[in-house]
This record gives sequence, C-alpha cells and structure tokens, in this order.
Amino acid sequence: MERIPVAGPWITQKEIDYVTDAVTNGWYGNANVYHERFERAFAGYLGVRHAMALPSCTSGIHLALLALGVGPGDEVIVPDATWIASAAPITYVGATPVFADIDERTWCLSAESFEACVTPKTKAVIPVALYGNMPDMDAIEDVARQHGIVIVEDAAEAIGSEYKGKKAGSFGDAGVFSFHGSKTLTTGEGGMLVTDATKLFERAQFLRDHGRKPGDKMFFNHEVAYKYKMTSMQAALGLAQLERIEELLEQKRRIFSLYQKELNGVEGVTLNYGTPDAKNVYWMVTVVLDPKFNLSKERLMEIMSERNIDCRPFFHPLSSIPAYRDTEQARLARARNQVSYRLTPYGLNLPSALSMTKEKVGIVCTTLKDILRESASGSQVS
Ligand SMILES: *Cc1c(COP(=O)(O)O)cnc(C)c1O
Repeated sequence: MERIPVAGPWITQKEIDYVTDAVTNGWYGNANVYHERFERAFAGYLGVRHAMALPSCTSGIHLALLALGVGPGDEVIVPDATWIASAAPITYVGATPVFADIDERTWCLSAESFEACVTPKTKAVIPVALYGNMPDMDAIEDVARQHGIVIVEDAAEAIGSEYKGKKAGSFGDAGVFSFHGSKTLTTGEGGMLVTDATKLFERAQFLRDHGRKPGDKMFFNHEVAYKYKMTSMQAALGLAQLERIEELLEQKRRIFSLYQKELNGVEGVTLNYGTPDAKNVYWMVTVVLDPKFNLSKERLMEIMSERNIDCRPFFHPLSSIPAYRDTEQARLARARNQVSYRLTPYGLNLPSALSMTKEKVGIVCTTLKDILRESASGSQVS
C-alpha cells in the first residue's frame, strides 16, 4: 500500500504558469509585480487595508510585536497548546511568554484563562486559530479592551476560517498567516502580515528591510533591523493559490466531512469541534482519544506509521517542552492549564493533505478503528 502523507498542497497548471512567468519575467522593472498583486489580492480577500508578504509566519509575528513596541519587561499571553512559532517571537523581542489554557471544545485560547493570566505587565495576546477553528473572539476582544492589551491574531492554520462572518486574521491589531508547505495555501515557505493600522504597517515595512524607508535608493539605514522578504516566485505561487482559494477550502471541508461520516459515533473519539458562531476550515483533521484506550499519541502515531499512515501529534503544551519548561512561567502554566494537559497527550492529527481521497480516508479510519478495537479488548496492539 502507498504511504498516506499527513499534509501537502494541491498544485495545478495555474501555479506552474504563474511561477514560470515570475522566474522568466519577474526581474528589472517587474521585480515586485507579483508581490504587489499577491498582497493586494490577499488584503482584498480578508477585507483589510494592508498586507505584507514575508518569508514565514514566524517573521510576521516577530515584526508585529516589534511594531507594536513589545519588548523587555512586557508579558505576552499565548495559548499553551500551539506550535512554538506562536511563542518564539515573544522571546526574540525579549518579552516573557505567558502560557494560558485552551478551551475544552475549540482547543483554542480560553478567554477565561486569558483573563486570569493578565497582570499589569501584559502588553499583548496572541490567540491562535488552532487546526482551523476560531477562538471565542468576542470574549477575547472584551478582555483585551478592558485591560488595554493589543491583539496579534495567529491565523497561520486558518485561512478562510470565519467568526461571526468575519475572516480569521482580520481581528485585532494585526494578523499573521503561514504558507508553509503543509498549510492550506502554500508558497513552499512564506507568510503574510495583515493590518488595518497604517502606522503599524509602515513601522513593519521599515523593520523588515534593514531599517530603511520603502523605496530607499540611497542604501541609507536608520536602525539595525531585519531582512524579511519573499521571492517573486513565491509571490506568484501564492497568487495562483489565492485565486483558487474557494476550491482549496472546499476540499479541506470535504475531507473533514468524509472523516466525520466514518468516525461518527465511534465511542471515545472526539473530532474537531464545529463552533456554531464560526466557520472551521479544518486545516488538520484531529482526533482526541478517551484516555481509557490507554493509547498515548506517541504510541498511536507509531502504530499508524507501521501501517503506512503518517500522522502528527497534537501540539505538546509549550510549558512542557525543553525549550520552555524550565522557565517560571512554564511552572505556573503546568499547575494551571488542566485542559491542555488533559487533551494534548491523546490528540492526533490524521492525514489531511489536499490530495486525500475518499478511499484513503476510508483506509485511515478502518485502521484507526481496528487499533482502537484491539486496544479496548486488551489484546496486544502491534
Ligand atoms: C505553521 C504555524 C506557524 C508558523 O508558520 P511559519 O510559516 O512556519 O513560520 C505559526 N503558528 C501556527 C499556529 C502554525 O501552525
């Protein structure tokens, strides 16, 4: 049997044509044509004023925090269960990440836990649309407003998701997206920073190009800053993908509904939650198992792999991994974040590549159900 990958893109002739045009013609006076088209189309899609194409989402969070003036002595609240890219830029700017708990159902930042983590030092919060689902943005915005906290929305996994009809990434002071090869819209590696705030955007433009003004031809740097740019080949790829976004999103939602049909009613298996107020684009179809199966995500991943199916573990709490576990904030988080510590050991991302077919979903689900049955009956799972 052919190995089933966990994630991957959907590339058509359109993408190949655009990239070919960029590599052929995107030089001299045309060097920025695809960036401008991609950024304009992206801002239009989201309904925001400004969009900046970047080499990664990580660099987008870094620039947003810098442009918002976050630095040493500040605390930034981030959900405990997310990819480290949500938190690492907090450390880059010398601020302190504070790990809040996630919501039981959405698996995104809990507004209650966010509020409980606020101190006089809290400067920013980074809600994450985990696996494509939306956090309770009304409640998060309320808490942020009451305490004068800025919001940087990590929508890396959630292009096309909506909360009460408003698109992921368009909330808060700034939003960021990832176009990594595993994401719904890909440029291989890449990201986008979006905002309505013109001052913030201009500051980010300055910081992303070695501290010089956009269009500077004198190579005159006012500050030591960063170099965060995307190539025109990547921008061309992104533009082609964005022009196909509805098709990409439809495929993601179709894959989820195929899984849902197969796994509906399977005792002890919880799938991604379809929040009533939100449109979830299901970047990664994810199951959280009842601990009664006595199957950790590590063990389950290993068994699935032996059966030719690649999965990924639910993100480990950031407060549990070596990169952060010895910090004071990680110690506090381990005592506080019961939901993160209860769910993440038993969560697994199932194959969600855009190349998934009904047959492959069937194979994954049959395999998973077999393993769970063997496990529940106490027989040796091998
Ligand atoms: C993928 C991802 C990122 C980082 O994206 P890069 O483009 O790899 O920097 C950030 N946050 C979340 C939640 C992600 O899934």
